[in-house]
Amino acid sequence: MTVRDLPSREAYDALKAQNLKLNMQRGQPSDADFDLSNGLLGILGEHDYLAGKLDTRNYPGGVQGLPEARELFGEYLDVPAAQVLVWNNASLELQAFALTTALLHGLRGSPELWVRLAGKPKMIVTVPGYDRHFLLLETLGFELLSVEMQDDGPDLDAVERLAADATVKGMLFVPTYSNPGGETVSAEKARRLAGLKAAAPDFTIFADDAYRVHHLFENDRHEAVNLIRLCAEAGHPDRAVVFASTSKITFAGAGLGFMASSEANVAYFSKFLSAQSIGPNKVEQLRHVRFLRQYPGGVEGLMRRHAELLAPKFQAVHEVLSQELGENGEYATWKTPKGGYFVSLDTALPVASRVVQLAEDAGVSLTPAGATYPGGHDPHDRNIRLSPSRPPADEVRAAMRAVATCIKLASEEYRAQQPGSAQ
Ligand code: PMP
Repeated sequence: MTVRDLPSREAYDALKAQNLKLNMQRGQPSDADFDLSNGLLGILGEHDYLAGKLDTRNYPGGVQGLPEARELFGEYLDVPAAQVLVWNNASLELQAFALTTALLHGLRGSPELWVRLAGKPKMIVTVPGYDRHFLLLETLGFELLSVEMQDDGPDLDAVERLAADATVKGMLFVPTYSNPGGETVSAEKARRLAGLKAAAPDFTIFADDAYRVHHLFENDRHEAVNLIRLCAEAGHPDRAVVFASTSKITFAGAGLGFMASSEANVAYFSKFLSAQSIGPNKVEQLRHVRFLRQYPGGVEGLMRRHAELLAPKFQAVHEVLSQELGENGEYATWKTPKGGYFVSLDTALPVASRVVQLAEDAGVSLTPAGATYPGGHDPHDRNIRLSPSRPPADEVRAAMRAVATCIKLASEEYRAQQPGSAQ
């Protein structure tokens, strides 16, 4: 019997009686994912600290990272090593650094410091989107302008309209397998973005390519675009700044973050970075280079192993939701991403926050409703981000049955409250 066949209150009471304790809140890798990279822990021997002639134990080396690491992540981002800066454990920190630099010093070609603009500087974001992007931008004092994320990337008609205002300084979004919808910007839209006519001469595309190679299926994948090359070809070589990290490749928050842009931008950012630090952790960089270079098939080989662990969980989400709620959209619709870390679900009725509350009360922790919109406010109260990466597949199934039960109950409660309802 599926959730659809049972009276919704009865199904929910039965769910609560199970005393579940499941967590689908954050996009964390599973322990099995981490185990793939345990080789990192022992890869440097006791006397193994030289990167070429450079002693990674000491300060010298500069802020741009080990040449070997810049080479490796240049290949990863499909740009020359000279256009990459490899830093410490979090790409979010680099995003904060780049934005803060723009605020306090301006970027190359800025007519003024971004903090000196009359009114708040404005930044375009895509919705539904990543809560930490919103938090970062809001904390730094930006006004956020939301545009819809479509199946082939941001709504560019909206971006073009907004970019006609000179106080709109750029956009921050996830170009590949976006968080939470899993959308990838198409080559055509990426070219349009690169050539966009913006009123601000320093309009910048901050692209958080956290899921660049995080395909779920070997033969059905989205290829990441090369925004840096496309911007250079369109005559805006400084326009794109791309960020990524190994957080979803090796260890989360315990690996390497890196950024890439034009060589001139890398030099510009390096000037400010070297005023605040002597340099990044080169021992960690050496460790990652050694580990990822020796891994069979390199980063791609490692990502194939992750996909084997992750794909069944994503399939479980789709299977259970379809089985329990049907695929006609009566209760909800959801994405079936080809990569990344999330499934974005929209309830048919404005009941997302009620669903998340019901799930919480039944022991299933979901990302708070509204988190995928600036200010934590979903104007339609419909979007829920599901994160199936960390729990084992059987727990993902149990959590999805619970979510379906809560969606059904919340929808029926909502209908019953409408004027004219027979109940
Ligand atoms: N960007 C996106 C889009 C993410 O989903 C995440 C992790 N959830 C991060 C950045 C965090 O990356 P890092 O650990 O490199 O700061």
